[in-house]
Amino acid sequence: MVNMQPIVQAYNPYYQQSNHTVTTQTKQCHCTIIPPHMSERIGDAYDDDVMKGNAERVTARHYRLRNRRAKLFSGENAILNLGASSDGIVKIYDAKHRKSLPGTLVASPGKSTDIDVLEAYEWSVRVNDFYHKVYGRKSIDNQGMEIVSTVHYDKGYNNAFWQGNQMVYGDGDDVYFNRFTIDSDIAAHEMTHAVTQFDEDLEYQDQAGAINESLSDIFGSMAKQYFQKDNFEEADWLIGHKLMIGDQYSLRSMKQPGSAYKNHPAFGDDPQPATMDAYNFTKEDYGGVHINSGIPNYAFYLMTKNLYEIDSSKYAYSWESTGPIWYKAKSLLSPTATFDDLVKATVKVAEDIFGYESLESKAVKYAWADVKLLDNGTHPGEGGGGNGSKCCQIL
Ligand SMILES: [Zn+2]
Repeated sequence: MVNMQPIVQAYNPYYQQSNHTVTTQTKQCHCTIIPPHMSERIGDAYDDDVMKGNAERVTARHYRLRNRRAKLFSGENAILNLGASSDGIVKIYDAKHRKSLPGTLVASPGKSTDIDVLEAYEWSVRVNDFYHKVYGRKSIDNQGMEIVSTVHYDKGYNNAFWQGNQMVYGDGDDVYFNRFTIDSDIAAHEMTHAVTQFDEDLEYQDQAGAINESLSDIFGSMAKQYFQKDNFEEADWLIGHKLMIGDQYSLRSMKQPGSAYKNHPAFGDDPQPATMDAYNFTKEDYGGVHINSGIPNYAFYLMTKNLYEIDSSKYAYSWESTGPIWYKAKSLLSPTATFDDLVKATVKVAEDIFGYESLESKAVKYAWADVKLLDNGTHPGEGGGGNGSKCCQIL
């Protein structure tokens, strides 16, 4: 058996630093998609003349892309497929480049010629349908709540966020970021912050905050995979790929945390760790919630991979294989849950569903072992001493 003794304590700053000072606790998160370690570098990059040259090039390229996308989405070409579960509960407001919320209500947003309005509407409806059809959910609060979004927030605003009662999307600066409505996984990420708030109310700090962020990436990626009908191998496992200008860049990679961007002119290298060996003890960003989320993100990816390798037709799609385990497991978490609590919850759910010694529950445990959250020295059937790269051969 995989040793279920938690090894996370060694990595938890609360255990190591008795005088650990934390940034102000937010009970209700102002959950931005762009973390401070990126947004704080944009100004510096603008100030650099070399970067300005680069910015002009990418902007010209971006406008071509934007025009093409606008044609794709406008009017009769819109791919909207309104489901009964979303009727009447999706509202889109236009802040008209000001900062007051929610702004002006848009009539008939599904027919809008404003690409930001149309995309915010489209993704709200479709993400809501995803949650309804796959997990039986009734809107973001599970009680039929209106799903409210504001687009065109501020001028060239480089972020999107869930504000406790609505989503907010900036236009992006057209230099480093596209409009923040462009990716379904970004919209689903923000809507999942709402789901998490109403279900688990996870604190936005340290490991609970990193789980909060990870759940948003996980369900965000699954929603995108669901829309595209991507199986495990077809999925790109990237977050915000279209959002970031430059085909080689994404915001985050669940498949390979730390590889979403390299040598970016403004942001440098992606700092996300894949395993606990590289857990980041930063006090920035509420204890690195957007950085350490790479660890559970990677565990989710590995679980989906392991299940796919058990049976590629039965476990073809993440939202049908690993998704239900996590959807149930997250309901077992308290607001101050640690990574160890998440490990225990997912293992318990997998064992309850599939059995204690099932291949499926082993697949879950091996993934946690690979990110160094379970002792991986006792893989069953391998005579001990198994390591991450070998973990799934017996499956
Ligand atoms: Zn987030």
